[in-house]
Amino acid sequence: MEKKIALIRGDYASPEFVAQAVRVLDRIAEKYGHTFTYTEVDMGGAAIDKYGEPLPEAELAKCLASDSVLLGSVGGPKWDDVAADKRPERGLLGLRSGMKLFSNNRPSKVWPQLAEASPLKSSIVEKGIDFVVIRELTGGIYFGEHKTETVTAADGASEQAATDVMYYTEHEIERIGRVGFETAMKRRKKLCSVDKANVLDTSKLWRKVMHRLAEEYPEVEYSDMLVDNCAMQICKDPSQFDVLVTENMFGDILSDEASEIVGSIGMACSSSLGETTCGVYEPIHGSAPDIAGEDKVNPIATILSAAMMLRYSFDMAAEADAIEQAVNAVLDDGLRTADIMSEGCTLVGCKAMGDAILAKL
Ligand code: NAD
Repeated sequence: MEKKIALIRGDYASPEFVAQAVRVLDRIAEKYGHTFTYTEVDMGGAAIDKYGEPLPEAELAKCLASDSVLLGSVGGPKWDDVAADKRPERGLLGLRSGMKLFSNNRPSKVWPQLAEASPLKSSIVEKGIDFVVIRELTGGIYFGEHKTETVTAADGASEQAATDVMYYTEHEIERIGRVGFETAMKRRKKLCSVDKANVLDTSKLWRKVMHRLAEEYPEVEYSDMLVDNCAMQICKDPSQFDVLVTENMFGDILSDEASEIVGSIGMACSSSLGETTCGVYEPIHGSAPDIAGEDKVNPIATILSAAMMLRYSFDMAAEADAIEQAVNAVLDDGLRTADIMSEGCTLVGCKAMGDAILAKL
């Protein structure tokens, strides 16, 4: 297959970990007979320095013309004093809205070799934790009407009141629900939809649409769960989950809770997708300015994000499996970057970690 990948190398330590992910992709292309071509895209601090804005139209156009985007992380102290509307993070928002990305997918996997780093008890971790949270990104309460007004209280005095509107259409629910079912089909075929249908109308509609979709996916073992219970179950028995799908605010909270379980930010990958298979794949961590240029940063989150790109955008499951197995083998060998280092293991830098993963491939 031939695939065009837009590459955003990012700021500070980001080019260091993105470079390792590119080496891994090149090795996969060589091994499986694919051609990956890269288009360099400037975004964030690098684009501010070059063009005076974090995501010029022409750079966004390169992303839209690609089959998918591999993104490092943007921003850092150099641009802290830039005006709010020109900050590096604006580039991220511009990319998400420009590419109409409505679903965010964050895997939460505890690698057995790193079980000690998880804040959960070993008796819970031992059962195996490997699930993804799919969060709706462009609707719900964050995008409904926000209003603060002065009202008259019961005693006649005036006080302030605030309203935030949670709004979802069937169409918005169906498209994210479908991402949930399709993701489950590519994994262990279990989907849990999270809502608050005992209270909220948006959740009642959410549940109705999800049940309708469930009939289209008879192979998927489907369940509903209330969000408060889900928050508890993620701590108590996360091994029960394969794919969770939920609305924007619930997903914001649950995906942060879920990513904590992994133990190190250097291992946590993510993807964002819209109506097409052209998505954005990135680690959840930032540009690690404090260790930039020191070859200390862990490239695994970005390498695993590249594997997600192969699995979810390019339909290359075997290739994605190969990358994940190579990471697993390197961890088995006891190689660790500083963020995941533990007693008895061998400390390596960013490039040496990339070398080791390549050798396994
Ligand atoms: P950060 O994630 O960059 O760093 C937090 C801590 O984790 C630091 O000590 C860092 O050294 C460490 N760390 C991060 N990634 C690591 C890795 N792969 N391996 C080893 N250690 C790692 O968060 P921050 O310091 O709050 O943010 C730095 C900059 O990154 C800020 O400008 C922020 O806005 C930006 N940021 C960008 C994104 C993005 O592009 N999606 C996401 C988060 C933060």
